[in-house]
Amino acid sequence: MKQLAEPENVASGVLYVVATPIGHLDDITIRAIDILKQVDYIAAEDTRHSKKLLDHYQITTPSLSLHEHNEAARIPALLEKLQQGEQLALISDAGTPLMSDPGFLLVRAAREAEIPVIPIPGPSALIAAASAAGIAVNQFCFLGFLPHQPVARRKLMEKYGSIECTMIVYESPHRLCATLEDLNQVMGDARNICIAREMTKKFETFLYGTAAAVRQQILSDTNQLKGEMVILIEGRKETEDLALTEVDRLLKILLEHLSPSHAAKVVARYSGLPKQSIYQRALAFNENETGAIEDS
Ligand code: SAM
Repeated sequence: MKQLAEPENVASGVLYVVATPIGHLDDITIRAIDILKQVDYIAAEDTRHSKKLLDHYQITTPSLSLHEHNEAARIPALLEKLQQGEQLALISDAGTPLMSDPGFLLVRAAREAEIPVIPIPGPSALIAAASAAGIAVNQFCFLGFLPHQPVARRKLMEKYGSIECTMIVYESPHRLCATLEDLNQVMGDARNICIAREMTKKFETFLYGTAAAVRQQILSDTNQLKGEMVILIEGRKETEDLALTEVDRLLKILLEHLSPSHAAKVVARYSGLPKQSIYQRALAFNENETGAIEDS
């Protein structure tokens, strides 16, 4: 077992959770490099991917793979190493492990076995994007990757669309346009979003505006569809609530004469709000009313 500089007087092994760069190789702390050099093993999401970083800093510590498909199976052997006093560092392909990356099962197992778990903080795309987007993040809700299925994705947006704090999601370039379309449908154009793309890399870009405007920018420059990206979405605003009071008044009057889908169509046209969300409101009102006209 190697002698570690910190923490002092540790009897059992230690699991270090080490943040690594999200692009620029210089974005790693001195402490992270020291720990990666000193531990007995590095558990890496993809050992070939991490080799570039480890070679760059002349880190020769043996590495083993720990990814979503083998994490559960590897835990008993890794716990045994830790219980025998060995030191292990957990890293992912980029940023902070466990942030939409593997490692949770191992960290939980180590905690349950009363093995010290020590974070070595550093980069994360979530925090980098939040710090530079220009969207309020004194309170935010991180949703990781959105569901791939359109129905599930919209459901999630509807669920979180009513909260007042900023939403932050990771998104893949393949689904970006569909996601922006859904955001526009579900949340209308009262809110701004920011797309933080390729942060700390050559083509770092921040796009800012309503979901519809940002989608337009992307369609006119498809380079914006390349690389890695984080989306920040402003939380629900008070003005939306005021607008909705008026909308609800009009909707209730129209529902006395029209079906929910007809009424929603008229109100959406009048207010500029997404038809789908007005329709959901119309259905909810209709459920509580007797004698209301139903959609056929
Ligand atoms: N653990 C990482 C972290 O702490 O940021 C995130 C890993 S997650 C599997 C990968 C996602 O993070 C990407 O699909 C993208 O949404 C986001 N991401 C990672 N690096 C990024 C970068 N340099 N710029 C923008 N987004 C990035």
